[in-house]
Amino acid sequence: MNSCKAMSSLPRPLEFAPGVWRALMEDLGRRSAGEREAGAFLCRTHHSSQVRRWICYEALDPLALHHDYIRLETVAFARLADVCSLEGLIVIADIHSHPGGPVQSESDRRHPMIAIAGHVALIAPRFASDIIRPRDVSFNWYRGNHRWRSYFYFDAAALITAP
Ligand SMILES: [Zn+2]
Repeated sequence: MNSCKAMSSLPRPLEFAPGVWRALMEDLGRRSAGEREAGAFLCRTHHSSQVRRWICYEALDPLALHHDYIRLETVAFARLADVCSLEGLIVIADIHSHPGGPVQSESDRRHPMIAIAGHVALIAPRFASDIIRPRDVSFNWYRGNHRWRSYFYFDAAALITAP
């Protein structure tokens, strides 16, 4: 019962290395191509707390984007672990695009990509097809047991540093 109280009540802000946010949004927009959701895991290195790299879902599972919603087969997580250990990366968040607004779908809430309390899932609106700023995305903080806390607009922007 008390374990919940021991957990931090505020998410850790997400800090991107310079230029990474813009390049990530361009990549998502290109992969979404205005017609499908695309996504990626966001990684830091062992020596930095900043997001420095992203690993696209398609690179892990070519069929990831071919369902009604993004879905990764179990083997994709084994590949993710391989890439991370090979390149010294640690997954700290994920992101995917939505056609409309950045609100989590029922499936997003029920199927966290990384089902560990504290994980962060960002959602970019409009298939990331135009300029997406931190205040345009939702910052969704996983609390375990399919519970999330979501931050929007300036509350999301306050949790994201993206120079
Ligand atoms: Zn979604």
